[in-house]
Amino acid sequence: MFVPVGNIGGVNDWDGPESVLAGKPIAAAEELRAAAAGGRWELASHGLRHCDLRALPAPERRAQLLAAQERLSSLAGRPVLDLAYPFGLSDQAVRADARAAGYRMAFADSRRQAATASRSPACPSAARRAGRPSGSSSSRTSATSSDSLAGWRAGSPARGLKGWRS
Ligand SMILES: [Zn+2]
Repeated sequence: MFVPVGNIGGVNDWDGPESVLAGKPIAAAEELRAAAAGGRWELASHGLRHCDLRALPAPERRAQLLAAQERLSSLAGRPVLDLAYPFGLSDQAVRADARAAGYRMAFADSRRQAATASRSPACPSAARRAGRPSGSSSSRTSATSSDSLAGWRAGSPARGLKGWRS
């Protein structure tokens, strides 16, 4: 499951009031540790804060990507190598920084990417004020190529994708 690391034990503070996910609790550290230890779940990064990484200054973006990976790896007790970009949004600089931080694979949302251009909110406080398009399809990218995520998604509970606690 993809974990917004800075929100562990907190709530979804990035989706606007139009979203049913707004305010939903995020699993706590003990729950994530137990899930990973049980072998059924693999923990992957969803960034540190739920920010549009494209909009962050490069040093801040790199620091967040690295911190998210380090914290989650420590929690999981093994290296965390996968990432889902917050909002599914990335660009060339974001992908290069994800690679540099040591991620081997990252998931993007190509439809949202096309819909938002560069107008997406940078961080949760901005996300609460701005409406965002609903409905999206996902694609999976290594830093350089993309293919469909549909099959991978089918087997995963939607709540699990972002580390929701039911
Ligand atoms: Zn997200």
